[in-house]
Amino acid sequence: MALAGVVVAGCGGGAREGGQGPGAGPHPQAARSGRVSVVYETGTVGPQERQVVALIRKSRVLERTADWVNRALTLPHDMVVKVTADVPRGVTDAVTQPDGRTIYVPPSFLAEIEKAFADVVKTVERPAPLAASQYNTDELTVLSTEFIFGHEMGHALQRQFLLANLGLEEDAADGFASFYTVNEVGPGPSLAAAVLFDEIARKEGRPTLEGMSSDHPVTQQRAYNFLCYLYGSDPEKYRRSLVDSGYLPKTRAPLCPQSWAMLDYGWWTQLQPHFSSAFKAEGDGKQKKAHARLVAETRELAKRIDEIRSSQ
Ligand SMILES: [Zn+2]
Repeated sequence: MALAGVVVAGCGGGAREGGQGPGAGPHPQAARSGRVSVVYETGTVGPQERQVVALIRKSRVLERTADWVNRALTLPHDMVVKVTADVPRGVTDAVTQPDGRTIYVPPSFLAEIEKAFADVVKTVERPAPLAASQYNTDELTVLSTEFIFGHEMGHALQRQFLLANLGLEEDAADGFASFYTVNEVGPGPSLAAAVLFDEIARKEGRPTLEGMSSDHPVTQQRAYNFLCYLYGSDPEKYRRSLVDSGYLPKTRAPLCPQSWAMLDYGWWTQLQPHFSSAFKAEGDGKQKKAHARLVAETRELAKRIDEIRSSQ
């Protein structure tokens, strides 16, 4: 299935564009902030893909993410998000250019997602955490596109700010998608993305050498990471629908509240030097709260670690 390669293949990769490198420029923190804009190059869209592009455009999920970045952060450079079939050579999936200034979202990629969900809703019973009203091809396509776009925005922010990573960039990009959508949107994008990646993993079958050596984690693992962060963000709220129902294994679940606290604190702290003046007070408050939560969750984990280890 093309989408398998599509989603998993290197969205941070691709040929290097000309011009300045990441974070380059004499005054990267100059007063004028770069702006994120979303452009639909509808003239490039083929007849097969017009419907899905119209669906995403009407949903405004790309604009919603762009608006959040524009409100909260001061970017060193402009960023343009292009929904276009006019992509650089070799691009088949959503990709971020190495300088973090352009994100391409090819219509064919959106159509692949839509096709995968058309199969899912016919063949897979609705997972308990997803509302019946959300379990249709259109809604799932929109929600998972919001999550995948969050992943690309994670790359773009890492590249523009030259963020210091303590792990793989692809993990951090997935982490930003969770951080942004769980905090700002709700559970829908994580749940839809988990369903999509589960379906892709099923179609991929046994992991290949290429899959195992990819710069992305193995597909099935990514689906569990999305669920882990969501559950960890509010264990009371999601215990029944995610853990008791068996979607998130009981071996993983006890680690998730501390994992979420670490991710949440990590992103607020990494973004803090780049908060816009309008967002600074609010952002500083969120960073401080995330720090307190990480301290509390780490203490909580220490109390339960013997029990967790001996039950695995
Ligand atoms: Zn990526």
